[in-house]
Amino acid sequence: MGKTVTQDARPGHLKGNRPACPNPLAIVHDAIVSCTRCPRLRAYGERIGREKRRAYRDETYWARPVPGFGDPAARVLIVGLAPAAHGANRTGRVFTGDGAGGSGDFLMAALHDTGFASLPTSTHRDDGLVLTDAYITAAVRCAPPDNRPTPGELVTCLSHLAAETGALPRIHTVVALGSIGFDAYLRLLRSQGVVMRPKPVFGHGSVHRLPNGGTLIGCYHPSRQNTNTGRLTPDMMAAVFRLARATVLAR
Ligand code: SF4
Repeated sequence: MGKTVTQDARPGHLKGNRPACPNPLAIVHDAIVSCTRCPRLRAYGERIGREKRRAYRDETYWARPVPGFGDPAARVLIVGLAPAAHGANRTGRVFTGDGAGGSGDFLMAALHDTGFASLPTSTHRDDGLVLTDAYITAAVRCAPPDNRPTPGELVTCLSHLAAETGALPRIHTVVALGSIGFDAYLRLLRSQGVVMRPKPVFGHGSVHRLPNGGTLIGCYHPSRQNTNTGRLTPDMMAAVFRLARATVLAR
């Protein structure tokens, strides 16, 4: 029987296998995990990891920056906001472990429904979840207080998004979860000399053809605030990923 291999690209994190030779994505991930450029965010994540939530008091929190996760050959990039304090900051994987009804499970149900994810939930790093043709990243890699990074922290973290997308050579369609992820991706394009005028406006299901040949799709963030109020429903989210799949297939 074959050994299980996770999609964690960092050296030494290939479960059941010897550590792989460093690849571009693994090098990017090591740089993200060891980054200390935002003292406020690093201190917050570490404090949350020490204090813990009662339900997770026996666990060791990740409490470091969180790299992206998914298929290195993905054509669809998903850009979220930032790790959740007791979700990705605890588990070390984006959109993972923020509980029943949390954003990770909501997102993964849509990705599973549309064929991008092997499981409809995202509970912990060893849960066997595999993404196919999709890669999840975030505008900021450290958990921010109140889920609100400062404008300066967003700018500071942009180089990690640039490096990670640079190591994903097949990306064509970008799904931005929320306006902060949407703006972060536009900021990344501007930093690469791709300027769009007028500036694309974020909206759920909005589709923007990019000068570099790609496509940017807006999607409401699957925060509890949006999902508990019905602003974002499972059908709405799955529709966005069906649109993303149709976009890459139409190339
Ligand atoms: S938010 Fe980004 S730039 Fe700031 S410390 Fe975390 S990984 Fe580094």
